[in-house]
Amino acid sequence: MNKPKLSLVVPCFNEEETIPAFYAEANRVLGEMSLSENAEFVFVDDGSTDGTLSLLETLAESDSRVHFVSFSRNFGKEAALYAGLSKARGTFTALLDADLQDPPSLLPEMLNSLENDGFECAATRRATRKNEPPVRSFFARLFYKIMAKMSDVPVVDGARDFRLMSESYKNAVLSLCERNRFTKGIFPWVGFKTKWFSYENIERVAGKTKCPFLKLFLY
Ligand code: UDP
Ligand code: MG
Repeated sequence: MNKPKLSLVVPCFNEEETIPAFYAEANRVLGEMSLSENAEFVFVDDGSTDGTLSLLETLAESDSRVHFVSFSRNFGKEAALYAGLSKARGTFTALLDADLQDPPSLLPEMLNSLENDGFECAATRRATRKNEPPVRSFFARLFYKIMAKMSDVPVVDGARDFRLMSESYKNAVLSLCERNRFTKGIFPWVGFKTKWFSYENIERVAGKTKCPFLKLFLY
C-alpha cells in the first residue's frame, strides 16, 4: 500500500473485549472522512494474555490496512506508543486507546486543525475529572502540581495521550531516544504549534482499566 494519509496507533493490553467496538467505530469515522482507503491501523499488543493477539492476527488477515506489533511481555503503554509510532507510515498519525475513551469522532476536527489551521499537533484533555474515584483525582492533581513546580515544560492537567500529529511532530517525538519514556512530558517538550480539544470523560466501552491506581502511582 502507498503511504496512507492517516495512521491510527492503538496500544492494547488485554483488549479482546474492546477491539471489535474500536475497529467498528474507527471505520465508521474513517468512512465519514472519506479516508477508508487511505488509512492504516497500527495495533500494538503489549504482551496480552487474553485473545488480543489472535484477534489482531485475524483482523490483519482480512484487512490489509491492519498492521500490528506484538511484545513478548507487558512493557507498558509508553513502550507500546513508541513502537506504534515507529511503525506508523501515515502523513498524519493519531494515538488512541482501544477502549473508545478517546473518541475517534473527534478526528475530523483534529485533522482539520492540522491541514487548514497551521497546527502540527492536535492534543486532547479531559474537561473535568467527573466520575473518577476521588483518591485517583487527589493524587493526579498533586502529581500535576508537583510537575508544575519541578519542570519548565508545561505538563497539562488532564491531558490525554490521544493526539493527532504531523510527520515532523512524530519524528521529533521519536528522535528522543530515552528508553524510560514519559510521554506526557515529551509532547510539550518537543514544542510545535498545538491545538487543544476538551471533552467530557467517557466510560470504557467494555473490560476493565489496565492502569489501576497502584500501577499509575508507581509510574
Ligand atoms: N495499555 C497498554 N499497556 C499497559 C496498560 C495499558 O498498552 O500496560 C493500553 C490499554 O490497552 C488501553 C490504553 O493503554 O488501550 C489505556 O489503558 P486503560 O484504558 O486501561 O487506562 P485508563 O484509561 O483506565 O487510564
Ligand atoms: Mg481507558
